[in-house]
Amino acid sequence: MSLPIRFRITIWSVALLAVLMAALGTFVVIRLRADLVAGVDSTLTTRASQIVLGLGTPGEGEFQDVSDAALRQLPGTESAAQLLDARGTVLESSGDIAAVKPMIGADDLVTVGRGEPVTRTMALGPDGEPFRVLAIALPGAPQRIVVVATSLDTVNASVGRLRTLFLFAGPGLLLVAGLGGWWLARAALAPVSRITRKAGEIGIEHLDERVAVPTTADEIHELAVTMNGMLERLERGVADQRRFIADASHELRTPLAVMRSELEVKLRERGLPPEARATLESVHEEIESMGAMVEDLLTLARADEGQLVLTLEPTDLHASAARVREALATVAATSSVDVRVEGDGAAVLADRRRIEQVLRNLTANAINYAGRGGHVVITTWTEGGSARCSVLDDGPGIPAAARPHVFDRFFRADPSRARGGAGLGLTICREIVAAHGGRIQVTSEEGRGSTFTFAIPVREGGGGVT
Ligand code: ADP
Repeated sequence: MSLPIRFRITIWSVALLAVLMAALGTFVVIRLRADLVAGVDSTLTTRASQIVLGLGTPGEGEFQDVSDAALRQLPGTESAAQLLDARGTVLESSGDIAAVKPMIGADDLVTVGRGEPVTRTMALGPDGEPFRVLAIALPGAPQRIVVVATSLDTVNASVGRLRTLFLFAGPGLLLVAGLGGWWLARAALAPVSRITRKAGEIGIEHLDERVAVPTTADEIHELAVTMNGMLERLERGVADQRRFIADASHELRTPLAVMRSELEVKLRERGLPPEARATLESVHEEIESMGAMVEDLLTLARADEGQLVLTLEPTDLHASAARVREALATVAATSSVDVRVEGDGAAVLADRRRIEQVLRNLTANAINYAGRGGHVVITTWTEGGSARCSVLDDGPGIPAAARPHVFDRFFRADPSRARGGAGLGLTICREIVAAHGGRIQVTSEEGRGSTFTFAIPVREGGGGVT
């Protein structure tokens, strides 16, 4: 079921209550009717005995007199009495019109004839109204049967009132119980919602945060404590992993540097067979890119540990952009991409080497994605207290679904187009810009190109910089 848990609790409790109320209501109605009918039966027995006694006592009067007196004592609004012979012929009758015809059937006549009283509910009179009927044989004259009946309307009215009460009050009660149950479930689950919300906010960058632990010693308390324990283990694990990456990349730097310089020395030698030279050049290229990757990893690991140390100096983004353009001129020429630097000077206190690393990453990406005959424009300007720079290309653009993730670690929208990068370049750009207290963002239109823009606040002392 996809319904929230509080709805499920409410629905189940209301359904259970409805079943219980229906069962209880049915039982109470049946029980009440049975009790009321038993009361009527007992009154009928008393009154029948009164008639029998009256008829048997000489001088007491005729059937009419004794039965009228007896009928007045019966609970129903309409009552009747009759005297039948063994064949069911009405010899005498009094009270309601129902008594005109025999009030018991042939089978009952036989039973009563055997001396056993009969009590049953019959539909009598022209309207077929329900009557409770008692028939007994006159003692000493088994051919004569006294039948007393009283209508069950008062019983039915009482039972009906109770049934109406159940039918109207039941849904109301269920509604109140449902609302109460929903409110209770909501109140009980509110801390779970709070924990869920908080847990959803804790990203990899904020593993030091914890969910609030309720003071109650219940399951929710246990959940919060368990979740905080998990966060602590995660925090430790991630810290260990970051330390490992930092240590490993630091350790890899030296052997890579040694390999690179040894290869460079070897490549300077004359008389190297052409095949050996080609192989060494290829290995040198691989070591260069491996070295760049190790540098990237080290930069990220330091940023993660908050140790991205910036060496601040007056830096002009425009001049830096020109230098980066120069450094990438060969790459641009090889790919036939036209790279231009436009805009004004944009002076800021920043770590020039790091800022040029950002510019180099963005420009190298732009050249790569612009492709043969493409154009890249780097523009610098100052606006709203920030030195700004945008790197525009007319490449294929970035699919809308990939745009929010381009700054994520190891993200590559289309690995087939990435030039052997590990998806760390833009993450490093974001970290470096953030360390300067700035922001970087991307706008892109599929088929038309992308523009990466970053802004570094121009502040005295380069505020927010470690
Ligand atoms: P990589 O080292 O793989 O280039 P980046 O972090 O520099 O990693 O870039 C991440 C992803 O963002 C790339 O794989 C690519 O899909 C997308 N991307 C970056 N720059 C551009 C661009 N100028 N045009 C189109 N896609 C780009």
